[in-house]
Amino acid sequence: MRTGSIPLYVPALHALHRPTQDLSDGYPGVGHPEVPSRVDCVLEGFAAVWEVAVQTVEHLAWGAVTALHDPGYVRFLGELSDLLQEGEEYIPSIFQPDLSAAPLRLRGGMYCRETGTPLGAATLRAALSSAAAAEWAARAILETGRDAVALCRPPGHHAGWRRYGGYCFFNNAYVAAAVLAAAGRCAVLDLDYHLGEGSAELASERAPYFSLHADPWRNYPYLDAGMHPEAAFVDLESLPAGVDGRGYLERLRGMLARLDVLGLDFLVLSLGFDTAATDPIQDDPVRLRPEDYFAIGRALTDLRPRLAIVLEGGYDLNGLTDCARYFAAGFSR
Ligand SMILES: [Zn+2]
Repeated sequence: MRTGSIPLYVPALHALHRPTQDLSDGYPGVGHPEVPSRVDCVLEGFAAVWEVAVQTVEHLAWGAVTALHDPGYVRFLGELSDLLQEGEEYIPSIFQPDLSAAPLRLRGGMYCRETGTPLGAATLRAALSSAAAAEWAARAILETGRDAVALCRPPGHHAGWRRYGGYCFFNNAYVAAAVLAAAGRCAVLDLDYHLGEGSAELASERAPYFSLHADPWRNYPYLDAGMHPEAAFVDLESLPAGVDGRGYLERLRGMLARLDVLGLDFLVLSLGFDTAATDPIQDDPVRLRPEDYFAIGRALTDLRPRLAIVLEGGYDLNGLTDCARYFAAGFSR
């Protein structure tokens, strides 16, 4: 049972990243759903239930992201950011595995494989700020022995060793996991609607990856469900289309039982609210109602490991606060 105040970290610079168009489904694009107010909605829901100690993180996590990601990839993001004008949005248009000899503006196509993740002049700073919130939450757990929350934005679980996409630039969950795995047994549990293929790529014996997600071939990241068949450190389970709260909980309990045998000290929870039935970006429906998040929080509250709760997706601005509020209520009881 979890009680008492919860430290909650908000990235100071996240709102500098304001993508306007999502071209994932072709041209013309639609209004981009990954907007700054998502953080406010989730914060409102958590704060309605938990006694939260909100801390704004001014730090930029250069060291943590350079340790986790390919330094050449981080350098590319820096050089491209310097090139972009205020208000400009960069989306790659040429996609090849190796564009290292190409002009800077073309190189994005070897680090990203889609058109839904615009990069602006300040995106890198926002992403470093987001990663810092995850890093701070993990450190707070080590200092206090209590759970902590990072309202990361932009999200992170699609970001791989040298890849951005799916609205993600740096893998916030694995930034937190790197801190925690140095101090004890750690794993990452991802309950976002989407498979975090970046997290799957970064999984290791020190921090294995567990994910419950919509079919990743019919939904982003559009990979065969059998991806990384050689990876020993992932536990990936696809939800059937149309699954409801009861079916979801059944599968979650099964996954928690598999986690339990690891004897974890720490668990990073990649928490996405895009599993809500009202979320606008689902292809295969997952029919979770706001009150189903109570049961999800409840299922997690008696876990032995301390939790670093890291925000991933969730795009229904009218429903986010309710979902977060129900989750917080379930997690506190
Ligand atoms: Zn998602």
